[in-house]
Amino acid sequence: MKPLRIDIEIPAFLHRDVEHGVFYCSEKILEGRVDRDAGSGIDLELADDADTESIESTVRGWIEQTIQRSLRYEDDVLQEWGEAAPFRSETEEILASKDLKVMGNGLVSYGPRYTRILQSLLEICEQLSASVEAEPFMTPAVATVEHLQRCDFLAQFPQAISFVTHFREDHSVIDRFAEQCRGTDGAVDCQPPAEHLKPFGMLLRPAVCYHIYPYFEGETLDRDPYLACAVGDCFRYESRNTTGIDRLFDFRLYEIVGLGSDETLQRWREGMIAEAVEIFTDLGLPGRIAGSNDPFFAAGSILKSTFQRAHALKYELEVPFPNREGRLAVASFNLHRDFFGTRFDIQTPSREVASTGCVGYGLDRILSALLVHHGLDLEQWPQRCRERLGIRA
Ligand code: 5GP
Ligand code: ZN
Repeated sequence: MKPLRIDIEIPAFLHRDVEHGVFYCSEKILEGRVDRDAGSGIDLELADDADTESIESTVRGWIEQTIQRSLRYEDDVLQEWGEAAPFRSETEEILASKDLKVMGNGLVSYGPRYTRILQSLLEICEQLSASVEAEPFMTPAVATVEHLQRCDFLAQFPQAISFVTHFREDHSVIDRFAEQCRGTDGAVDCQPPAEHLKPFGMLLRPAVCYHIYPYFEGETLDRDPYLACAVGDCFRYESRNTTGIDRLFDFRLYEIVGLGSDETLQRWREGMIAEAVEIFTDLGLPGRIAGSNDPFFAAGSILKSTFQRAHALKYELEVPFPNREGRLAVASFNLHRDFFGTRFDIQTPSREVASTGCVGYGLDRILSALLVHHGLDLEQWPQRCRERLGIRA
């Protein structure tokens, strides 16, 4: 690795976006950290064969563009609770735990101990849904390109996309590939010629709620708000941003989606935030509810993130966490105004274009926060938390 220091003024409100986005400047960037102490500059670690000069110019240009296209915003903290105690475990300890298997590339499997916790968290989410009479939905883990295009996902988050494709219906092509795999137990050429493959027709889903809006296409809702809930694996390509179980390529997301008038959804979101604070208090996790923005592909869409901030469209529940920012977003509370309602022609019972919103609980992240705050020994977790999760003595 070779270090590269780029001296450039980066306003504090963009530190997170810059650190997240810098990896997409070049695959030769292995590490990137804004020098918060000095108040400016970014320190990179590059692969040995990297072209330092060209990377410096790319990163500098990208940061300048990001700054130019952004709107400054202030911190917006709605609520804060609990006492921050010293962390009981670090990311490395969690990853080394015998209760999970890390497979690299942001993939992890959980053994029985952690799976039971995740199941309990899922149950808590389901109780929450039942208490507001959200209707259950099951949706596919993939979505068509057209569908996500209509949801405006492709232009806004191109860095996170994972395409799905197949071989063309042609025995000779399929046989040739199988033959190649038969001969080896290791490396396989996984870049078959483009003419052997179908065009990329589908993507792995990046969130659960994207399947809910088209479900109601052309319909008039029978109530206001109509609440739907669904859970499933979601996929976001994170480049080198994958760390512990708090930033994965494949993570489990529970969502409650609201469709209705703007005012009911505003009120619904307030209620959902209050419920979440109660749940996290029971779990013994301190936190705060703070205004946030989606990680839009920075330079291109930074205006969108700052727009989200300015209109308080996204709040996150953040728990203190031993990472660079010192906190981890474990749940989000989003309003989309009438974007999906217009795109999918959804109407409220009073025949107005429906607004929508969604609340997402990241189950892996909540588990990660529990392990960091309460330690790896479940016996030592606070009594109230154990009761809430149904952990037996
Ligand atoms: P959002 O749609 O607001 O970006 O994400 C909703 C929730 O999903 C987040 O609050 C977080 O709990 C979870 N989440 C988002 N990205 C990741 C990720 O990369 N890894 C994990 N484990 N959870 C994530
Ligand atoms: Zn959502």
